[in-house]
Amino acid sequence: MNRQRERIKAQLLAEVGEMIDEVLDWEEGHPAPTLVEIEEVVLKLRQRVAQRVAEALIEQQEMARPVPGPACPECGQEMRYKWKGQVTVESRVGPLNIERGYYYCERCRSGFPPLGQQLGLRDLHWSEGVVKDVVWLSALMPYEQVAEVMERLGQVGISASTLRAQGCVGVGRVQSGFSLSGLL
Ligand SMILES: [Zn+2]
Repeated sequence: MNRQRERIKAQLLAEVGEMIDEVLDWEEGHPAPTLVEIEEVVLKLRQRVAQRVAEALIEQQEMARPVPGPACPECGQEMRYKWKGQVTVESRVGPLNIERGYYYCERCRSGFPPLGQQLGLRDLHWSEGVVKDVVWLSALMPYEQVAEVMERLGQVGISASTLRAQGCVGVGRVQSGFSLSGLL
């Protein structure tokens, strides 16, 4: 096992250990909990573990700041690293905090974050998996209910007004009708 991998594993185990300690603390302070109460606590734990593991895997990706820079899709020239920043992406395991570099082509005056492209986010703040779920639900029920289902079952926070603004109705409109251009 290489040193980097050992470091990440130790870090994740320490964080997950703390989370489990919190759950055990909760149990000590809540004698005779119902299954509903246990479900609530354990589902939150599951989500936090999944978020941290997903974030750790994403942090390992070279595309967060590739060297050399990627070729410009317009002119082919190497794009220059411009800045890095944090972005929150809604994923199927909840919101993920991602740090990614932004690359820019001086000639074409355009840029993008290569990591966003690798992850399949394109110009979205949402994973492709979330988009598919939202499009599927939007064909079945009003936006208010879609937002409620995503929050309640998917732990994904999306407002009905955002859904309405994107006009996301019906399968097949992921590409054309569901773009949050400029946000990422
Ligand atoms: Zn260019």
